[in-house]
Amino acid sequence: MTANDMGINALQKELAELSKMARLSAAVDNVDRIIEQLSAAREQVAQALDPHTASLTLTKLQNPTKVAFEKVNDNLKEASSAQKKFGKALNEHFPLKSLPADHDAMADHPALINRAIAMHLLREGQFSVASTFIDEAQDTPPHHALYHQLESEDTPSVELDEAMDEDDMDADARTSITASTTDNNDLSSLQSQELQTKFAEMYSILQDLKARNLFSAIEWARSNSAELEARGSNLEFELSKLQYVWLFKGPAVNRLPDDEHNGRFGALTYARQHFGRFQARHLREIEKLASAMVFAPNLGESPYNLVFATDSAFTDVAASFTREFCSLLGLSAESPLYIAVTAGALALPKLMKYNMAKRAKGTEWTTANELAFETPLPESMVYHSIFVCPVAKEQTTESNPPMMIPCGHVLGRETIQKLCKGTRFKCPYCPSEGQLKDARQIIL
Ligand SMILES: [Zn+2]
Repeated sequence: MTANDMGINALQKELAELSKMARLSAAVDNVDRIIEQLSAAREQVAQALDPHTASLTLTKLQNPTKVAFEKVNDNLKEASSAQKKFGKALNEHFPLKSLPADHDAMADHPALINRAIAMHLLREGQFSVASTFIDEAQDTPPHHALYHQLESEDTPSVELDEAMDEDDMDADARTSITASTTDNNDLSSLQSQELQTKFAEMYSILQDLKARNLFSAIEWARSNSAELEARGSNLEFELSKLQYVWLFKGPAVNRLPDDEHNGRFGALTYARQHFGRFQARHLREIEKLASAMVFAPNLGESPYNLVFATDSAFTDVAASFTREFCSLLGLSAESPLYIAVTAGALALPKLMKYNMAKRAKGTEWTTANELAFETPLPESMVYHSIFVCPVAKEQTTESNPPMMIPCGHVLGRETIQKLCKGTRFKCPYCPSEGQLKDARQIIL
């Protein structure tokens, strides 16, 4: 177990304690009781003919009210001490540390970070949380107080609420508020009903897919078929194909009603009704699906086994659906916040190690905006392939693209131009010679 895991375990225990102790339901009950007592007393006083009764009612009221108020206070005290305890545990196990880098590239863009968070919440279907977040981010525009305090602090254990304190704002932070106002207007655009409706639709279709119901997804794909086809997407066919397979498996597997719309017969009817429109593009696959009928009694042993495996099929179409839905909205399939945080967490240990070594040796990082080491990220998180010219040791760019020369070696175009004597050059890696006009640009 790593120190981090231990910290998380300890925190989870504290959190359980907090949710047990910090419940204010007893206080709420007591307040309700006080209100009842007061209202009853008011009725009595209002109806009393004799002033004596009124003062008696009030005297009788004194003690129980006092007791109830004390109970409310006790409850509040419990809750606040539990909260403080949790805050302490949080600081202890995850102390706010200054970043391992000298410069926090995101510190100047708190509004962008807010936007990424809001967008992430929207994509996850957390609409009310997103809306609260956007409201609060607009009421309290982001400033740099937290970062500044962290930089100036030697001991990293800053109380969270202190760091958040508005009074600590310096002049620098004030200017950043004005600077970020435009970004904030941007944030309010996320509150648009249209965007929320879109994501609500995506979310509800994803819920259906999770419950193995394909209808809403198919309907969405059909009503957007022109755009999807223009993008070269097969989504509508993939969904319809899965629907066929799903019906084919029958009620024992799909748990749909056991009637003529289900089972092999239901699948066949479905294919007749819906596959016609896909024939031009997917004839072979449709033939395959139809031939599988012959093997129905023993599908597992048949060559169609793979086509009919549904174990990951629903997760797969859900991923394709999310990708297509987001791309029609002009968004990436994965939440950028999720990717950034995950990639950051994966890369951070190496960065910290590198920075420690750098500090120990007193050496400097010379290349701007570029890491001096490889970051081990999974392929799914690598978005732009890069090529570094092996001679110039520089990353190729649009104006200096990678070029393959006749011997098969690849160099930056400027390198080849420098190597040229007249129109000919000699490859620095093998004995071949080539001509500039024979070099071909490589598109990564
Ligand atoms: Zn060569």
